[in-house]
Amino acid sequence: MAKLVGRPIGSRRGRDVPRIELLVVQPTPFCNIDCRYCYLPDRSSKAVVSRQTLHNLFSQVFASGWVGECLSVVWHAGEPTVLPIEFYREAFRMVDRLKPAELAVSHSFQTNGTLIDEAWCTFFREERLGVGVSIDGPKQFHDRRRLTRSGHGTFDRTIAGIRLLRRHGVPFHVISVLSAASMAVPREMFDFYVEEGIEQVCFNVEESEGDHVSESFQESGIESAYYRFLSEFWRLSAAAPGHITFIREIEHAIAQVIRPADAPFRNQLVEPFAVTSMDWAGNISTFSPELLGLKNPVYEDFILGNINRDALIDLPSRPNFIRMLADIEAGVEMCRERCQYFSVCGGGEPVNKLAENSSFASSETTYCRLIKMRGTDLVLDALERVQSRGAVGKGAVCAEVYE
Ligand code: SF4
Repeated sequence: MAKLVGRPIGSRRGRDVPRIELLVVQPTPFCNIDCRYCYLPDRSSKAVVSRQTLHNLFSQVFASGWVGECLSVVWHAGEPTVLPIEFYREAFRMVDRLKPAELAVSHSFQTNGTLIDEAWCTFFREERLGVGVSIDGPKQFHDRRRLTRSGHGTFDRTIAGIRLLRRHGVPFHVISVLSAASMAVPREMFDFYVEEGIEQVCFNVEESEGDHVSESFQESGIESAYYRFLSEFWRLSAAAPGHITFIREIEHAIAQVIRPADAPFRNQLVEPFAVTSMDWAGNISTFSPELLGLKNPVYEDFILGNINRDALIDLPSRPNFIRMLADIEAGVEMCRERCQYFSVCGGGEPVNKLAENSSFASSETTYCRLIKMRGTDLVLDALERVQSRGAVGKGAVCAEVYE
């Protein structure tokens, strides 16, 4: 296997001023469907974030000095399209009024797609919203886990939403949670995306998070199955140019593996407040967004304060934040010392370490073996074959998969 390049990650810049890059806002915890692997504990609650809470969040974020030239806002952690379009129009205008003139703010939705109609498509296009739709591949895979509250599959409604997006020319990507069954049939998965005109795909594997224990992680041979799937999917995509234009797992792995030797690499998920999350009630958390709604016997919860009562800039001095940070940093140090993939990973995802190892102060997980290690191996293997012939660069690595 080719060797990993890139400067090993230095000490965390966490005691510098935080830099918020991604703001995850829960407009409502409610979801109109009931996926079997959902980690959101309050997805039956129809609570909605108030205007005042949004005002307090954005005005504090913009006044904090913690944002740079751009800020991404993801409306997620519940199904965003259960709220009326007007809710978002007003919220976006409020953000525009509050933000510094030079700051670029981009909004995006992660949606199950079942409620997308003509009006949503018009809104998405007008607002240039980033849209991610969750669909797990063809109906027989999607309908196993993505169900209504009465237990019926949601594929037909989700694919109808995707077809509407395409008809209206709304750019979108999909996120597909892979199962052992779908990993076994990369050709079938590839054909599905091509037939539906889906060009940008992101793959997840069902994770253990909170109280949810992944069934996929119990499967023997899951790592080699994931490697084979990704490898074949990449090969199929490269062999039929113009259909699948973006495979997140491959693009990210290539970007990390083939980078200048002195290029820094950062892992947002272990940097305080780089990813900042707020629930509908104004509670604030950081690191992995999934932590916001979770309870834990050691930490109780991961809420650092409430934007309606507390000053955002005071949250780094909270005892529970200091404890989380110390444990997460200890975990990153373990990764740095033990893991040959550290230079392309940066210490993984705190929520997975907690779920699988019962501690932030830990290193390897099944999740990181799949997503980080096997994805990196795939690119390194292609790079090694390319280098053995004296070629270099991303184009050569991509061309390699034809062979
Ligand atoms: S791949 Fe896993 S063990 Fe290695 S640095 Fe990342 S989280 Fe740590």
